[in-house]
Amino acid sequence: MAAQGDMVYAWAADADVLKKGECGGAITALQQYALTSGMVDAVLAVKKGQDLYDAVPTLITDPADLAQTAGSLHCGTLLLSKVVKNYLDSNKTARIGVTVKGCDLMGLIELAKRDAVDLDRLLLLGVNCGGSVSPVAARKMIAEKFEVDPDAVHKEEIDKGQFIIEYEGGHKGIKIDELEEEGYGRRSNCRRCLYKVPRQADLACGNWGVIGDKAGKATFIEVCSEKGAELLNKAVAAGAVKAEAANPKGIEIRGKVENAMLKLGNNWRKEDFETLSSDLWGTIGRETARCIKCYSCIENCPVCFPAAQELKGNSRMVTSGEIPPNPMFHLRRFAHISDSCVNCGQCEELCPMDIPLALFSHAIRTEGDSAFEPKLGRASYTN
Ligand code: FAD
Repeated sequence: MAAQGDMVYAWAADADVLKKGECGGAITALQQYALTSGMVDAVLAVKKGQDLYDAVPTLITDPADLAQTAGSLHCGTLLLSKVVKNYLDSNKTARIGVTVKGCDLMGLIELAKRDAVDLDRLLLLGVNCGGSVSPVAARKMIAEKFEVDPDAVHKEEIDKGQFIIEYEGGHKGIKIDELEEEGYGRRSNCRRCLYKVPRQADLACGNWGVIGDKAGKATFIEVCSEKGAELLNKAVAAGAVKAEAANPKGIEIRGKVENAMLKLGNNWRKEDFETLSSDLWGTIGRETARCIKCYSCIENCPVCFPAAQELKGNSRMVTSGEIPPNPMFHLRRFAHISDSCVNCGQCEELCPMDIPLALFSHAIRTEGDSAFEPKLGRASYTN
């Protein structure tokens, strides 16, 4: 019997899910069990859309459909926090199971702090995340650096510090460090992220630390809540999931990889923030002068939606119809999210004018986070 704090290797019992899963399909099998047993009414997961650069959230109520969501997509433009909020708002009683990366989870926790989401209605299966790549950047990187047609790629993965692609006629992997030195690689907000193992989910799942004959065929699960332990135990007892204690050497390796990733994240913060702080307001003024006021940053932010009306309308500080807007438009937006910006990067990712908005609000918020409680994405919600 697994309990909160335990660490196990797990994999799907079903041969099809085992094969389709990224690392043995434990997440998909756990979600299938949660749905079949009535622990949740629906599952929100992610599936491949037009191609592997297109990750699409999908709500599933038939357990048989879950296999189509197995596998990890590293190149989508995706944040699930607000999708979850919208679903819970439109269906007042449903409980849902959700696969979340650290940013999805932090967004949900910040929404819960604002009483906009009831976390008790969620079964949270967290995936460790070393970062993702924007679809446009991924295509460019594959064409220029890997010298492969991006449309010929049928699988991508991030493993052992490499970005790896499989395509008709072969596969190639290049070290992420090398890619990032040359301006490719992960989103800049992901590089600065320090939330790699989502321990405020019910289960934190990943491939780090799976060694020996289970490497690549099982998921390392850290049990983070009683709800997570109940799901895992019941799924194992029902024969849906197989599990064994994690290898102690694997636990040690997982800790080392996590620490190395945190160190790298801190290095990126130092570099990005120091460059910015040499001319903070000048840079913000210059960069935001490209703003066309499309409001994409507001619409896609998991937490600044209450500010939408105030910022969209005419006010003494922001004049409706003025392009580019007075920099106050952006400062007011930063102020609105200054207690909750989780550095998900959506404002920057979806800005048609490529303004580094996530960098600005993350730099401002990081200073606040070092001084004040509660810390971002933490504290008010304890499992
Ligand atoms: P599966 O049964 O294959 O289920 C995978 C689940 O992930 C499905 O529910 C699917 O819908 C969901 N999913 C796929 N793509 C996304 C996405 N972009 N956003 C949200 N949900 C998604 N593990 C590590 O140990 N280290 C890492 O650095 C790491 N980076 C990752 C980065 C990303 C973007 C993702 C999605 C996962 C990452 N993982 C990482 C987790 C790892 O790849 C596996 O997802 C995990 O081991 C579970 O494997 P599984 O076979 O049990 O999952």
